[in-house]
Formats: sequence, C-alpha cells, structure tokens
Amino acid sequence: MPDERRKSYVLAGQAVEAPSLPAGLHLVATPIGNLRDVTLRALETLASADIIACEDTRITRRLTEHYGINTPLTPYHEHNAGAARPKLLARIAAGSSIALVSDAGTPLISDPGFKLVRAAREAGLAVTALPGPSAALAALTMAGLPTDRFFFEGFLPVKTGQRRARIAELSRIPATLIFYESGPRLVRALADLASGLGPREAAVCRELTKLHEEVRRGDLPGLARAYEDGAETRGEIVIVVAPPPADAAQPDAGELDALLRRALERVSMKDAVSEVAAATGLPRREIYQRALALNDEDGDGAPP
Ligand code: SAM
Repeated sequence: MPDERRKSYVLAGQAVEAPSLPAGLHLVATPIGNLRDVTLRALETLASADIIACEDTRITRRLTEHYGINTPLTPYHEHNAGAARPKLLARIAAGSSIALVSDAGTPLISDPGFKLVRAAREAGLAVTALPGPSAALAALTMAGLPTDRFFFEGFLPVKTGQRRARIAELSRIPATLIFYESGPRLVRALADLASGLGPREAAVCRELTKLHEEVRRGDLPGLARAYEDGAETRGEIVIVVAPPPADAAQPDAGELDALLRRALERVSMKDAVSEVAAATGLPRREIYQRALALNDEDGDGAPP
C-alpha cells in the first residue's frame, strides 16, 4: 500500500518537507534532556522513515510530537527484542527504512540495538548512524578531567560484591573512567569507588542539558561524603573519574592472582588475560603464564 503520510517536520513554526530515505536501519541519536539538542538530519530521518523503533513509545512520542512528526512508532526494547528483531529485519529487506532510537541519547550505548545492528549487517542490509547526544561524552567534556584516553564502563553491577570486584578490575586502567548511575544508587557507588580507587579527582554530572544541570567536582572520598550528607541525587547521573597517577605501583603477585581469579570466574582464559592486561598494563605473556599456573592450582589442570 502506498505510504500517503506527509513526511515533514515542524521547525520554528514552519513545516519542512523531509527528503526521502533509502531502505535500511538508521541509528538516530536523540536529546538527553533538552529537546533542542536534535540534529536536522535526525529530524529529517525521523520524519521520512517508514517506522521508528523505540524503547518506550510514550517517551519518543514527546520528541516526535514536539517536532510535528507523525511517523508510526513501534516498541523495540530488551523484553520484546527477540520477537521484534526478525520482523524489523524482514521489513528492511522488503525495502523499508527504519529509524532506531532509544529513550535518550545514542542507541546501543547502554541501550538496546547491538543485536539488531549485528543481524542487519549479517543479512547484508544497509546500516547507518546519525551521531548526536550521548550522556557519556557530554559528561566527559564538562568534567574537567583528562580526555585523551577514556574508558566507558556504563552501569556498575547492582550487587555489592560484584560492583566492588568490577571496580578493582578497573582500578589500573590508565584512562579516565565513565560510569552511568542513577540517583538512588549514587551514594553506594561513590563509597565503593572511593574505597576501590582511592582519592582520585572525579565529577558527578547530573541532569545534563536540563533545567537543574549540575556538575560537582572533588576527590572521590569528598564526593561520597557530600552525597551521604544530603547533596541532591535526583535525576540522571554520569560519574567521571580521573585516571590513576602515572606512578601507580604495579600490582604485587597476590593482587594479580586476585584480579585473575575474579576475571576467570566470569570469562574465558583468553578474555581474562586481555582484561587483566588492560587493567594492569603488564605484558600479556606474563599474565597468561600466571593464568595457566592458577588453572593448574585451582582446577583440574585441563587445558583452557
Ligand atoms: N544511550 C544513552 C546515551 O547515549 O547517553 C544512555 C542510556 S542509559 C540507559 C541511561 C543513563 O544515561 C542514565 O542512567 C544516566 O546515567 C545517563 N544519562 C542519560 N541522560 C542523562 C542526563 N541528561 N544527565 C546525566 N546523565 C544522563
């Protein structure tokens, strides 16, 4: 059936006709709070796509209604992705253009979409990205901490033991660290970061691009105290933590074993060696030898 829908958006009270869009999967970054942080190309694509796949249709509708876009919305989120993915792929294969957005920011960044992109690529379908807002980069650029090398961790584990273990693994990465966090979990996260990483400089970036945007700077123990003492935690938060000091000591044998054992509990030996090499800066060969020795000591000595 021909699509009779008017493919336009409204900017400053004027309707703007959107150019037609080729078939494919279009990954569209959307604002993280301030609706004006949208690109012209994002508006054109959202207006012109045959369908917009989004996490929560109510949230995306706020954006599309704001810009007078009437493209149909369909949910694509972690609970329906398995069933929705083949249908979306079939539509693209049949010639449709699908825009993928998340509730806010860049899709796939701590948001759904990776498996859809992978499957689209495997099927030889066109995939393109429309870059735009992401809370991680907005926070990194505002934090006043080194930007030459950074490591995006996303959300730390919710369970205390797993969170502390993960922080220990991250402690030697020679880069600025970026974490996503929620208000209710901020105090616990900062306390664990302070005890796991020591008195590093950090920034808590809250409600970026919104009315109550705030960046609070300090060292991790000081920030942990400030929020324990009642500093405002409401809203969406990114924590940015400075790299370890350049002269940070190498891990001793006991620390190395502990890091390796924790990694080996979660991932294959090859991945554990890579993780620990990234975290410590030690040569892979040395870590691999140690992992083999631990495997012999702890396990049945079977080859990895
Ligand atoms: N895909 C998004 C992006 O590119 O930023 C991130 C999605 S993730 C599910 C949501 C998390 O991003 C929030 O819990 C918060 O940590 C961070 N976030 C999103 N919007 C934010 C904002 N306006 N200010 C601070 N952090 C924000």
